[in-house]
Amino acid sequence: MIDSYKHKGMRHKLAEAIRDKGITDERIIEAINKIPRHLFMDSSFEKFAYSDVPFPIGSGQTISQPYTVAVQTELLEVKKGDKILEIGTGSGYQACVLLEMGAKVYSIERQRNLFDKTRLLLPSLGYNPKMFYGDGYKGLPAFAPFDKVIVTAGAIEVPEDVLKQLQVGGIMVIPVGNEKTQKMIRIKKISENEFDKSENGNFAFVPFLKDKVR
Ligand code: SAH
Repeated sequence: MIDSYKHKGMRHKLAEAIRDKGITDERIIEAINKIPRHLFMDSSFEKFAYSDVPFPIGSGQTISQPYTVAVQTELLEVKKGDKILEIGTGSGYQACVLLEMGAKVYSIERQRNLFDKTRLLLPSLGYNPKMFYGDGYKGLPAFAPFDKVIVTAGAIEVPEDVLKQLQVGGIMVIPVGNEKTQKMIRIKKISENEFDKSENGNFAFVPFLKDKVR
């Protein structure tokens, strides 16, 4: 696993491109500048790693587009020490961005082979989120409440169980829509039953699957 000057140079350009697209939280730009994204994909596709595009990572899943990762992360208003639930570990890249910002990350993945691969990769790069194999629709009740929740697959609805696991004052970011396109929804929990919702642009994610752990 090599991280060369060439990789670092391309990564720097990617980080600048993300800033140019309007991301203002410098900690996110720094994380993108630091994390070796090419190591999260098959080495034969290395040349795509530092373009601002999503990419297949096997099992019909994708590593999210860096800009999308940046938008979701910015909407979460990550603070050092935040306890964050991520649903859809995938390649683990998003989890690493949150770790770089000083968050404690709990991440769930429902695809066994992806889960196994990412569980080995992240510690080898020095990243140690808590990783769980299971159905994110139910969240992680044993570890609730969470300060923040990020869903990185396209949902048709906001999972109620997960919303319950969000701390009052906490923020959940989730793409909600149909199979083709979703609106990025940010939900702030004002009290146990009061929520502030905002829409933050259109995105296209792989589906958030319900009751289908395999
Ligand atoms: N955050 C990832 C992108 C993930 S793509 C990254 O940075 O690379 C979406 C992921 O959500 C896929 O890996 C998919 O298997 C997973 N997923 C879909 N439905 C899920 C569910 N119900 N529970 C947990 N993971 C789910």
